[in-house]
Amino acid sequence: MNPGLLIVVSGPAGVGKGTIVRKMLEKNSKFVLSVSATSRAPRPNESEGNNYYYKTREQFEAMIKNDELIEWVEYCDNYYGTPRELVLSEIEKGNVVLLEIEVDGALNVKRLFPDCVLCFIIPPDFNELEKRLRGRGTDTEEAIIKRLTRAKEEFRYLEEYDYLIINDSIENAAQRFFSIVQAEQMRTKRNQSIINKFKNI
Ligand code: 5GP
Repeated sequence: MNPGLLIVVSGPAGVGKGTIVRKMLEKNSKFVLSVSATSRAPRPNESEGNNYYYKTREQFEAMIKNDELIEWVEYCDNYYGTPRELVLSEIEKGNVVLLEIEVDGALNVKRLFPDCVLCFIIPPDFNELEKRLRGRGTDTEEAIIKRLTRAKEEFRYLEEYDYLIINDSIENAAQRFFSIVQAEQMRTKRNQSIINKFKNI
């Protein structure tokens, strides 16, 4: 059996993280997406429990107080956080849990779970990102500018990540991402029980 694994994916808004992660979920039934809680309003194409668990600020603050989140941040005026329960139980079952979160949250997760793998998805160039963000047509001009500014800040943390995935096409990026997960599962440090079996022959 493959060992459970925690994979964190970050990348600027509009880079295609969501689409790539969903492609990953199709590739293997052992891949599980952690659905975050947020105080942001749902976008027209989003739904409760599928994209996020939508909370009021008060509800979110209660989750923080009750220690229901592994990590949480305030990003562009809204709360976002990772519910604790699913992550722990799915890793325990030997599944690969994917967290799609921004940089501060990712670095906090790495501190809590040093064995996790941090992946950052980048666009082929920055102009492409602005084009995609505007093309999406779901954010106000103010939100787009905030997100592009935040993207530039996030790029400063690239070296903290284990892997860079360039999204030149969704198919290529998903394949690269899949290869990373497969290689990580084969690392000796994640397979101590198999090693012990062979050492004792
Ligand atoms: P969006 O509003 O575009 O869905 O997400 C904004 C940013 O918040 C994205 O970079 C997304 O990856 C990040 N994000 C989503 N959920 C979480 C979470 O639970 N924790 C953290 N730290 N960031 C999150």
